[in-house]
Amino acid sequence: ARHLLVVLGDQLNPDSALFDGADPSCDVIWMAEVANEACHVWSHQSRIALFLSAMRHFAADRRVDGWRVDYRELPATAEDDNLPTLEAALAQAIERWTPQRVIWVCPGEYRLRDALAAVVSEAGVPLEARGDRHFLVDDAWFADWAAGRKTLRMEHFYRAQRCRFAVLMDGDEPVGGKFNFDAANRQSFDARGPGLMPEPARFPPDRVTREVIDLVQARFLDHPGQDHDALSRFDWPVTPAQGEQALVDFIEQRGHAFGAYQDAMWTDAPWLYHSRLSAALNLKLIDPRRVIEAVESAWRDGRMPLAAAEGFIRQVLGWREFVRGLYWWGMPDYARGNALEADEPLPTFYWRGRMADGEPIPMSCLDQAIGQTLRLGYAHHIQRLMVTGLFAQLLGVRPQAVHEWYLAVYVDAVEWVELPNVLGMSQYADGGVMASKPYVASGRYIQRMSNYCAHCRFDPGEAVGESACPFTTLYWDFLLRHRERFARHPRTALQWKHVERIDAERAAVIGEQAESWREALRASSRGEG
Ligand code: FAD
Ligand code: SF4
Repeated sequence: ARHLLVVLGDQLNPDSALFDGADPSCDVIWMAEVANEACHVWSHQSRIALFLSAMRHFAADRRVDGWRVDYRELPATAEDDNLPTLEAALAQAIERWTPQRVIWVCPGEYRLRDALAAVVSEAGVPLEARGDRHFLVDDAWFADWAAGRKTLRMEHFYRAQRCRFAVLMDGDEPVGGKFNFDAANRQSFDARGPGLMPEPARFPPDRVTREVIDLVQARFLDHPGQDHDALSRFDWPVTPAQGEQALVDFIEQRGHAFGAYQDAMWTDAPWLYHSRLSAALNLKLIDPRRVIEAVESAWRDGRMPLAAAEGFIRQVLGWREFVRGLYWWGMPDYARGNALEADEPLPTFYWRGRMADGEPIPMSCLDQAIGQTLRLGYAHHIQRLMVTGLFAQLLGVRPQAVHEWYLAVYVDAVEWVELPNVLGMSQYADGGVMASKPYVASGRYIQRMSNYCAHCRFDPGEAVGESACPFTTLYWDFLLRHRERFARHPRTALQWKHVERIDAERAAVIGEQAESWREALRASSRGEG
């Protein structure tokens, strides 16, 4: 072959720069399924199925377009599998095709970029790396923007992109007179809850997905999801056409209320008004420009209020592009951050969805967020940030253990987006690069944003005693433990001011109760080996 064109599992955009100047008569597309990508973190079954199914659909479509695709399918048994890693599979493909050149669009993960580049170099073949034009902002632009700034704030970055790409702009001015409609968003439901919700578009498995599901059952039987029947519920978009359908469905059915309820949570209501587009976006089945343009037009035609359209576009054009810039700007050191020196193990109920003795998780909010995650491979932003993320941070879990969990259990998890969200936004492990202050709150926040506390045996208003909510105990304990660091900091002083009113005796009781939670959870982790 002339060129070996490398396509990784999250690079499934047919208009990728990879194909510029490529020629189906002499170039070969190479793709591979390997066990290590499902095992280097203990991947959720639905996440594995999603990647494999979308990859197989992509390969089939390229063959229809006339391409030769060298596609390595994962063998059904471990005994028959002699290529456990992408490195091994690529080395073998280079030997087989003896290409003049290997071409790829830069992999989205630091680990893979380095490891695969080493394989190509070892083989003595030139490697051509192309930029990833799926994203609106490239690494060079981000590095330029970041250079010379003392702090990197999403809001500044986002406003710059709105102007650069003329999104929701009226000449030089933001439409509606301001860039940010957060004040109109962030509502919770009243006691009646969300009521009858429109069901999101579902994509039940076709033949390709069913085959993949059988394969996942055969090879990854003990992975997260198994005890929660995750594969039987699989309904994610796996092709560009389905990604588009999911987008249209979101805008027509749920987009109008996205802004208002983007931070709200409700028992047994996993989707609410969220788009479910992250996985299709991250596998590049759908282009962020298309998503932004469709939402902006929905606002222009009066189908979405401005606060909802702006709130949504802020996530895609703002947060999503920002965290990717931050990832490449900060790696590899970013992954090692542990600014608050947290070193507790991650409680095993995160992986199992049950306590060590088999009982349900007694904290109703965690039971809901984790249970739903293990069943669906999905939780929305506030569940990830202010339930599972918050608990780990308050408990003082080692950020890298938290990172492994998030990378494993969500269908949309790829490292460039997961890592800054977990280490930076949710655990403050980067010491304030991504978020200006730790996102910490007591159980009162969860009570305000959901009905979880109404079904819980704990009381979010209590920090000590039998019915004390562990979030509330651990929140005050967190403030006390990190008093030195934050009390004088201008952005956090207000939150820490309340600590001054706690007398030494109460502080000691809070500390003891927090420690007894830690001890109990540590013991249960040890119990599981
Ligand atoms: P919606 O609520 O409908 O939002 C629309 C889109 O905006 C999403 O599809 C996503 O592409 C984008 N978006 C929203 N928030 C963010 C954000 N903070 N960073 C980047 N993009 C964002 N998102 C992932 O795609 N993969 C991850 O592995 C991931 N891990 C996270 C871990 C933590 C601790 C936190 C707090 C957030 C994480 N997020 C991650 C961001 C966000 O939670 C998900 O993108 C979102 O919940 C996906 O559901 P949705 O498509 O229904 O999103
Ligand atoms: Fe969660 Fe505390 Fe509310 Fe229970 S009382 S649901 S543990 S915040």
